[in-house]
Amino acid sequence: MFEGKTTRVVVIGTGFVGTSYAFSLLNQEVANELVLIDANKEKAEGEARDLNHGLPFGAQMKIWAGEYSDCRDADIVVIAAGANQAPGETRLDLIDKNTKIFKTIVTNVMSYNFDGIFIVATNPVDILSYATWKFSGLPKERVIGSGTILDTARFRYLLGEYFDVDSRNVHGYILGEHGDTELPVWSHTTIGSRPVLSLIKDTSEGKAELDALFADVRDAAYHIINRKGATHFGIAMGLLRLTKAILRNENSILTISTLLEGEYGLEDLYIGVPAIVNRNGIREVIELDLTPHETEQLQHSAKTLTDAMKPVLLHK
Ligand code: NAD
Repeated sequence: MFEGKTTRVVVIGTGFVGTSYAFSLLNQEVANELVLIDANKEKAEGEARDLNHGLPFGAQMKIWAGEYSDCRDADIVVIAAGANQAPGETRLDLIDKNTKIFKTIVTNVMSYNFDGIFIVATNPVDILSYATWKFSGLPKERVIGSGTILDTARFRYLLGEYFDVDSRNVHGYILGEHGDTELPVWSHTTIGSRPVLSLIKDTSEGKAELDALFADVRDAAYHIINRKGATHFGIAMGLLRLTKAILRNENSILTISTLLEGEYGLEDLYIGVPAIVNRNGIREVIELDLTPHETEQLQHSAKTLTDAMKPVLLHK
């Protein structure tokens, strides 16, 4: 798989998300070096020891609790550090504290001439991806936010359950902010090439059920956080999928957060859209032909992000 080449992933932030991602990397042998960094060094060390004890059961990897200097040779740096949503808190509530944390982290990584790809998972992910792009000075193609990758997975899963079809055969996207203003692109959601909207036969009952299904997608994090305090397995799988698309040069279409420069009539913000991802990062943004209502919803989502982003712009 690696053709003799060493592939290094650095995870910064070894909390629920960072360690769940690390565990999935280990299980699927996607990279052969994994470095864990956390402000709480002992936590990173404990996690590295625990993960290393899984190696005799299958994977061939080197895993250690490292330093920022380890980012010099990294292919990918994943940032999952920072504060998490408390029950009742929105993702946008985290903006101030996590932007400050990101300034320090990204500056530290770049001080070792990191020349790979950043993947950002910390919330609010669109704004922190933008901040990472600004703070790092890397080309936009190489700073990728997890965006609506998880929301799209939740959407496909719930539609699969609703229609009793394998969720891998459900095609559709959640666009916009990874947060309260995201939107489903119903006009392009299909199962077996058949538009989902035609499958409900235009009944008002069917429409109400699909609306409720989307509300479950949008509010999923709140429902999970109220029950168990954090969400981490789903996003870990999403980050793993993104990592594979990059390291294996897959040219896969994933809904990630990227800088828009005129696509969808939007610019100078990171927001969730479908894009082709390969070894160079973002190859291109896919522009869907949205309905007027969907366009309006996306513009509203973009405006919410742009307004919330003003404090970040002050840091640049
Ligand atoms: P957590 O509290 O379990 O872990 C965060 C870790 O970051 C802690 O170990 C902490 O010590 C570390 N940290 C804090 N400041 C740091 C710094 N300056 N340098 C290095 N490490 C630092 O939180 P979690 O549940 O793992 O969530 C992490 C982030 O991921 C949150 O912002 C959360 O909202 C976000 N998240 C995103 C998605 C998504 O879809 N993008 C999904 C779930 C969670």
